[in-house]
Amino acid sequence: MFLQQTLRKKVTIKGIGLHTGAPTEISFCPAPVNTGVYFVRRDLPQCPAIPVLSKHVKATAYATTLGSDVFSVATVEHCLSSLTALRIDNLFIELSGPEIPICDGSATIFFEELQKVGVVEQDSPREYIFVHKPIYVGNQEKHAYVLPYNGLRITCTVDFPHPKIGLQYMDVDINQNTFQKDIAPARTFGFLKDVEALRARGLARGGSLENAIVLDDTTIMNPEGLRFKDEFVRHKVLDALGDLMTLGHPLMGHLVLYKAGHDLMNQLANHILNTPDSYRLIDLGREVPTFPPFQVPFES
Ligand SMILES: [Zn+2]
Repeated sequence: MFLQQTLRKKVTIKGIGLHTGAPTEISFCPAPVNTGVYFVRRDLPQCPAIPVLSKHVKATAYATTLGSDVFSVATVEHCLSSLTALRIDNLFIELSGPEIPICDGSATIFFEELQKVGVVEQDSPREYIFVHKPIYVGNQEKHAYVLPYNGLRITCTVDFPHPKIGLQYMDVDINQNTFQKDIAPARTFGFLKDVEALRARGLARGGSLENAIVLDDTTIMNPEGLRFKDEFVRHKVLDALGDLMTLGHPLMGHLVLYKAGHDLMNQLANHILNTPDSYRLIDLGREVPTFPPFQVPFES
């Protein structure tokens, strides 16, 4: 039986916001069984909260932003990816401002701090979204699909016309070990011309070589270089794992991504949740998934 989990006790991480450049603080707090994951803006009157669900995603440019008409929470995907890896189901994530600390641009600090505190099992089984019919969004340019799979596997391809990136591919079964070693340390990245455009709009004020890989037209500007030769595709897997939290349940399936970003991940999550005949909610204490025959939804 796989039971729901929350954090053993509260953990706080301090840092700066990528866009505001202002100091910000995030606290991960245990939550009761069947709560799900919520962001709570502690700095606003009445501390409004928003559940981590795809229907509350309000922007996907450069990062995933959750929000309502009156408040938002930006760059949620790096901390959420650690929750996917650690199988945390119920959590209140309290924030002192509109952004999650960018830390070093990866998920390592979130993962290690949460892992250090540890999780506790709760008194109810976890329900997985088990995709039993292939689900597809996108087009020939960029696409995402999910196939039946007994676990969580991601196959990701990126292709950037830059001499230091090019075509990169990763195929990985997600568990705590693969996440910690192969995915969490991969940093976010940006192109100098985009960073300059963002700065001109008053954004990316906290962005620096300390918290992102920055590329000019031909080279990587960070003096320390890359953590992995294919750090870029690894970071895309990290982002996808964070965005998967917006399903509201852990996914069982094989996620195949081609040039997919936050926008496509949001379309995919909405499409899964709006296509109830493509999945079942299963509790692994009672049911072992079986895989019906399927066809890859592409024709050449
Ligand atoms: Zn990212």
